Amino acid sequence: MKIVHVASELFPYVKTGGLADAVGALTGALADRGHEVAVYLPGYRAVLEHKDAATAERSHRLKVEQGIEFLSGEVRSFSPRPGVTVHLVCREEFFDRRGAYGNGERDYEDNSERFIFFSKAVVESLRLSDAGADIVHCHDWQAALVPVLLRQAERRHGVTLALKTVFTIHNIAYQGVFPSRTFTRTNLPDELNQMDGIEYYSQINLMKGGILFADRVTTVSPRYAQEIQTPEFGCGLDGVVQTRAEDLVGLINGVDTAIWNPASDEQLPARYSRQNMSGKKVCRAELLKRCGFTGAFRGPVFGVVARLAAQKGVDLILANRDFFQSNDVRLVLLGSGDRRLEEEVRALAREAPSKVHFTPRLDEAMSHLIEAGSDFFLMPSVFEPCGLNQMYSQVYGTVPLVSRVGGLVDTVIDADDDPKHGTGLICDPSSTGLLEALQRALALFADPARYGAVQQRGMARDFSWKSAAGAYDRLYQDSL
Ligand code: ADP
Repeated sequence: MKIVHVASELFPYVKTGGLADAVGALTGALADRGHEVAVYLPGYRAVLEHKDAATAERSHRLKVEQGIEFLSGEVRSFSPRPGVTVHLVCREEFFDRRGAYGNGERDYEDNSERFIFFSKAVVESLRLSDAGADIVHCHDWQAALVPVLLRQAERRHGVTLALKTVFTIHNIAYQGVFPSRTFTRTNLPDELNQMDGIEYYSQINLMKGGILFADRVTTVSPRYAQEIQTPEFGCGLDGVVQTRAEDLVGLINGVDTAIWNPASDEQLPARYSRQNMSGKKVCRAELLKRCGFTGAFRGPVFGVVARLAAQKGVDLILANRDFFQSNDVRLVLLGSGDRRLEEEVRALAREAPSKVHFTPRLDEAMSHLIEAGSDFFLMPSVFEPCGLNQMYSQVYGTVPLVSRVGGLVDTVIDADDDPKHGTGLICDPSSTGLLEALQRALALFADPARYGAVQQRGMARDFSWKSAAGAYDRLYQDSL
């Protein structure tokens, strides 16, 4: 099949979260299955500066009608590996910036213009390249307008650009909602600025377009597929999602084992496997040293790697500061994002420097060291579409402690509920729920045989993209 992906992030070029990992690994896995894969990505500064992009060549110049203007741009293309072509949608005014979505303080004010331009440029590029995709697979709100624009363009030009479209919701909390006047920039017919179009409480909602107009809708876990049909998790789009219930499926993301594998991870001070775990001790010692924790210490190390956003349950960890201060444990956090959360985590690390360490930035190498060197990985998310770190943790023999939501429930088995198969601990997403699970973690760690068995079962699980990509492959075939 000719499969075109459209996304605003792609590992290793630009990443703010799991979206980049998922699109990077899925596209590679589809190419491994023999498909011809293309990925459209905004030509951000960071991507253009990446060594892979040095070979990028202009595929075509663009003139994109946007409202009453015609905006110029170009598509530059390169092939990072056999079977995959990356097409960068370039326009300096929009994408030659440091951040993908904002400057760290707040989102860019012209994000609607940027991503409407991106979506239109993709459709125009598909038209110009005359390639006729079998599947156009769009990810999250930044690409959600593509299925809508594609069908409009096909009608206008009397061509078929894509046999089928797929839209994936990686996180329904981010919808791309903009003032109503933004609609004119889409140049879509007025009838689409209504309730059964992309109109949303007198504004426009780009994600709604993807949900309503794609042939198939997917999200990143079966549990989340159910949750987003409820008011509690649907963030106002639950009713819209319900209308597509028959075409909606939840497919778990995989782990990119070329990057996340303790037996071959070059970012670690030592490597290890199920058969020989001694390298994990080296990683733990290195992590403790890196955090400035000196002296003999035998208790459990709790690791956290997360965007600091309300979603990730960092408030629940902060609410349990007494637990970390009064027990013989260590807490190592890596993350950036919300300023308030950053300040509060920093304050906790200052209060208890011998026990709590905080790295307030994006740091790939540190994220690998935390996954390898911790004994437990904390992920008490309030909601979690799929989540990757709880899977990385199991692969790295680090017992995940997660909340009972979304993809976390689909990928972790509680060791107390199911002593034969358990690979982690699951709690209610509340401060008392987390405390209860932290106590269970202490009890588990105090029993090395039981703890070791939980580790081993986690490491034995197959989270690779091979099976995940197979599920997408079947979905594509089925839709065609
Ligand atoms: P989300 O997409 O909601 O952020 P996921 O668990 O799906 O959550 O994916 C998060 C990804 O981002 C993981 O690969 C995680 O390791 C990575 N990550 C998050 N924060 C950081 C950080 N500060 N430094 C390095 N990697 C990070």
